[in-house]
Amino acid sequence: MIIEPKIRGFICTTAHPVGCATNVQRQIDHVVVKGEIPSARRRVLVLGCSTGYGLASRIVTTFGSGADTIGVSFEKPPAENKTASAGWYNNRAFEQRAKAAGRLALTIEGDAFSDAIKAETIEAIRSNLGQVDLIVYSLASPVRTDPATGETYRSAIKPFGAAVAAKTLNTATGEVSEVVIEPATDEEAAATVKVMGGEDWQLWISALADAGVLADGFTTLNYTYLGSELTWPIYHKGTLGVAKADLDRAAGEIRGRFGDTSAYVVALKAVVTQASSAIPVVPLYGTLLLKVMAEMGLNEGTIEQIDRLFRTKLADPVIDEAHRLRVDDWELSPTVQAEMVRRWPLLSTETLPELADLKMYRAEFLKLFGFGLGGVDYTADVDPREV
Ligand code: NAD
Repeated sequence: MIIEPKIRGFICTTAHPVGCATNVQRQIDHVVVKGEIPSARRRVLVLGCSTGYGLASRIVTTFGSGADTIGVSFEKPPAENKTASAGWYNNRAFEQRAKAAGRLALTIEGDAFSDAIKAETIEAIRSNLGQVDLIVYSLASPVRTDPATGETYRSAIKPFGAAVAAKTLNTATGEVSEVVIEPATDEEAAATVKVMGGEDWQLWISALADAGVLADGFTTLNYTYLGSELTWPIYHKGTLGVAKADLDRAAGEIRGRFGDTSAYVVALKAVVTQASSAIPVVPLYGTLLLKVMAEMGLNEGTIEQIDRLFRTKLADPVIDEAHRLRVDDWELSPTVQAEMVRRWPLLSTETLPELADLKMYRAEFLKLFGFGLGGVDYTADVDPREV
């Protein structure tokens, strides 16, 4: 079949296998060209390994530091006339390339929040790696079933207290408008912490420790977004921000049990991923950020951020007042933010093309699904099951 993008709201329901493989290869090239990242953390578990920051983490540890990896993700396989999800193609492309480089690359598909997938992963670690030195927690999900109670929680991305009026962008039409986002109920706020807070991270670390598969001196990372004051009413000071603050609590408890260097929350830059495109206000902020940082020669995507994390931030960790590692330093620098704050009130449907870069945002979004990559013949007949 000829595979084309089919966009519904903020997702694309098709993915191109050759395009996804090209996208994975580009990220590998980025790391390889920059050279080795010396590290003793060579047995790595990546939770949420198939797309975004998790995929970049798997690529950087494998191709930068020669790590063997086990990844966990929740992706859809292909059918006869239906493409797989992009992450499924990414996983296959990554495995092929990692194996060709002589590295172990094993992927477990299933719900990482469940006890069954934790048990399967532990078994895979035992039989393939013995133990793990590094656990990257990069799950982004709107829903979680608590294995202890069977209850399912859905996150809600909303402000607290009062409704918030905010500018937002329809990335399909380019229209900038004002939306009013109603505040969260206590129940929605608590559910968001259940889904995106630190509970499942701690469950993973405890399960791995109890099974004896955590190496002495292991490190675990969990990714957060703090962002600029422009997005605080909806993000940092809203339900998602409270869930992310819960990661700091969880990290503190993991450090209390396993030592000061065992757990870090890492604050990363806003980038275009499947998860971030679903958050109100963030795509508008993102289109502006792309333009401002590109003009300053500072723009980074997922692979550049994670490469910089492992190459320069993790080797000799410098932590902030909340014990976090900061790779959002360029985004939140006074220079970048002064320009963001200057342009933000000027943004409208009419000024968007001049002030921000919707074209680049759309191109980055399509790349997540394997579309718009150079060197790929999109007119070719492709079997979606063949990778
Ligand atoms: P993403 O949507 O690209 O990746 C999410 C991953 O989680 C995928 O591998 C997916 O398969 C996996 N996943 C989801 N539900 C799962 C489940 N039940 N079981 C197993 N796997 C599951 O998201 P992303 O943007 O890379 O986000 C990863 C982390 O980075 C999140 O904590 C996010 O808050 C954080 N972060 C993102 C940004 C950003 O701008 N995108 C910025 C800073 C921090």
